[in-house]
Amino acid sequence: MQKFSAQIKKSGKTIALVPTMGYLHEGHISLVRIAQKVCDATIVSIFVNPAQFGPSEDLNSYPRDLEKDCALLKKEGVETIFTPTPKELYPAGYQTYVNALHLSEHLCGISRPALFKGVTTVLTKLFNIVSPNKAVFGKKDFQQFVIVCQMIKDLNFNIEIIGAPIVREADGLAMSSRNAYLKKNQRKPALSLYKALKQSEQLVKKGEKRAETIIGAALKLINSFDETLIDYISICNLETFEEVKIIDCPVLMALAVKVGKTRLIDNIILSP
Ligand code: AMP
Repeated sequence: MQKFSAQIKKSGKTIALVPTMGYLHEGHISLVRIAQKVCDATIVSIFVNPAQFGPSEDLNSYPRDLEKDCALLKKEGVETIFTPTPKELYPAGYQTYVNALHLSEHLCGISRPALFKGVTTVLTKLFNIVSPNKAVFGKKDFQQFVIVCQMIKDLNFNIEIIGAPIVREADGLAMSSRNAYLKKNQRKPALSLYKALKQSEQLVKKGEKRAETIIGAALKLINSFDETLIDYISICNLETFEEVKIIDCPVLMALAVKVGKTRLIDNIILSP
């Protein structure tokens, strides 16, 4: 891959990387289309990264379908798919990790302490292997997007990070590979994440500024379903993820909820 991307660059072409864990959906494809617009060559990586899963998380059951992914990408005109194996990226004796200290201590980092260290480590490796000019990330994983931007700055990567909007199903559910886990009767409870975010947006539109009130209403809505278990609902600073009490500038409202065994995340920007 390193040799191949050096050849591409030698021929004067630019490279955009779209890192994914596969089981691709329209959300991933939207990133691919952005990559194709901003650079000459698009490289999609598919790697279910063991380093970002905790011991009790879904590494083994994470959905995989490389054949279908390749067919989808081929249809989009993507010529290069990078699919390293865990042994290739983390051979025996592997010991170097990259960690964004403070940003990864909030939101998803609280209940998933391995997550962002694994993400920043694998992205460092992918950036060094693929050497892209640009890399595209979805804002569905807003915390990840901010952490990647910080890492680029902190570690002097000469890569432009592009953030892409959240792609949703027709009913509003944010697209996710993990939606494949949802049983038919879990669809409605899963939708409560989006409904809670839209409800919050409406409350802010009507003049509500108190984060506590907005979070309270979201809790009530999501808890009205038996199958939901809230991990967190946070209204916080867009850059630091510190909680805010009063919404007097654009803030991030982010939430993580388990529906049955499936952990879902979603977010929205609330602007007064
Ligand atoms: P994943 O395969 O879940 O690790 O996601 C790979 C990339 O796709 C990440 O940058 C995600 O933020 C992005 N992504 C996943 N789902 C969506 C979505 N519904 N809308 C936009 N981007 C997404």
